[in-house]
Amino acid sequence: MTMTLIMKFGGTSVGNAEAIRQAANLVIQGAPNGEAIVVIVSAMRGVTDALVQGALTAAQGDEQTYRGVVSDLRVRHTLVIAELLSESAQRTELLKTVEAYLDEFAAFCRSVHVLGEVTARAMDAISSLGERMNARIFAAFLQEQGTPARAVDATDLIVTDRRFQEAAPLMEATQQRVQAHLMPLIEAGETPVVTGFIGATEDGITTTLGRGGSDYSAAILGAALDAAEVWTWTDVDGVLTTDPRIVPGARIIPELSYSEIGELAYFGAKVLHPKTIRPVVERGIPLWVKNTFNPTCPGTRIVQQPTSTPGTVKAVTAIPGLSMVTVEGRGMMGVPGIAARTFAAVASQGANVLMISQASSEQSICFLIPTGDVSTVITALERELALELSRRDIDRVWSMDDVVIVSAVGAGMRGTPGVAARLFHALATTDINVIAIAQGSSECSISLVVSGDQATEAVRQIHSEVIFYEQA
Ligand code: ADP
Ligand code: ASP
Ligand code: MG
Repeated sequence: MTMTLIMKFGGTSVGNAEAIRQAANLVIQGAPNGEAIVVIVSAMRGVTDALVQGALTAAQGDEQTYRGVVSDLRVRHTLVIAELLSESAQRTELLKTVEAYLDEFAAFCRSVHVLGEVTARAMDAISSLGERMNARIFAAFLQEQGTPARAVDATDLIVTDRRFQEAAPLMEATQQRVQAHLMPLIEAGETPVVTGFIGATEDGITTTLGRGGSDYSAAILGAALDAAEVWTWTDVDGVLTTDPRIVPGARIIPELSYSEIGELAYFGAKVLHPKTIRPVVERGIPLWVKNTFNPTCPGTRIVQQPTSTPGTVKAVTAIPGLSMVTVEGRGMMGVPGIAARTFAAVASQGANVLMISQASSEQSICFLIPTGDVSTVITALERELALELSRRDIDRVWSMDDVVIVSAVGAGMRGTPGVAARLFHALATTDINVIAIAQGSSECSISLVVSGDQATEAVRQIHSEVIFYEQA
């Protein structure tokens, strides 16, 4: 079987003609060990947002916004095509294809407007269009450069369940499709350019893997092809010690374990989709994060067992926009099943619980959810716990809004006393109040809840006092 290397390019890396040229050069240069390259592309930066926005506004009765999106996207894609390709039948064909996708978008939005709602299934069909257009542009440019290439829709490769907007791959079926549809192309010496982010149900209905899901697509195809490595090309030098938009001096982390990147991504580091590691862990396929615009920088290598120095914290992340819900009452102690019922009520509202903390006195349970879900969750809890509330076993269910989870991540924290103390010390020096704490059982992360207005300072403080101190 031909050995493959997956190269995924994110939205900025394929966001304009110059970026596409740069990205294509990386493909043309070839893989270090001569593997066949399989390309995965995202939509151009901002395109998925625009498509989603067009659909949402159409659902609200606005007929203007989506029309504006059509013309913006037409201009943007047409200009990129004109910059990249010389006049030819192929270019005319490509322009027609883009036009057809934009017509499809407009038609979807018209129906959404008439119906007054956009279902998750329709949203997936709509938001898949950015990747479909860009894969064709990228493949055409590779061809023009003399590299045989072909655009492939992941709807023919990645088979998923029916959870629109957040679909999960069915790996066995996916592997069969990949062997049947992708392998022959690769073996014929063509470079496939596959759409990131999307898949389809067994019966062919388009799904998406969740926002930012192209990284996940790359890992799914990497596992299905048993690739040598998966490289995700982005717009920063690798996984950094924190979000560079919060701390411009954030540094590259040369190596991380699958579980460390899992925690980092889960707790808000946008650089990789949180599910990316799932498909590659089992086969131990190394994952790299590299910079399209600085390709000589080696980037971050993610493997099973990296070197980690005891006591070190590698990175700090933050998830904003959360609320902390507390169920409290002195009579809760010993009433069986309160936690189970609490979380069942939360789940019934489809809310995602990001962190849970319970005091050992059992007098309160608190958990963090996105602020947008608070009112429905509290109503559901008050209904579920009505009896206990009326008996005063539970005193109240309340929420604190505008809080942020700040997490310190690093396998070196495991079994090392004093890391938590250093985190608290870092925050105490600038009077940042810690509202709640949780530590994962992997001991790979410690999470602290702080109020929204102190979050940036908390990240900066931990970054300078704990991370730089450790690595100096
Ligand atoms: P792509 O479109 O290439 O997938 P994303 O915008 O999804 O890129 O992710 C890369 C961005 O993630 C970076 O530009 C950076 O601003 C942000 N980011 C947040 N936290 C981190 C971190 N710890 N390391 C690197 N980048 C981070
Ligand atoms: N284009 C998709 C998004 O914006 C997927 C991705 O960029 O990874 O969410
Ligand atoms: Mg991304």
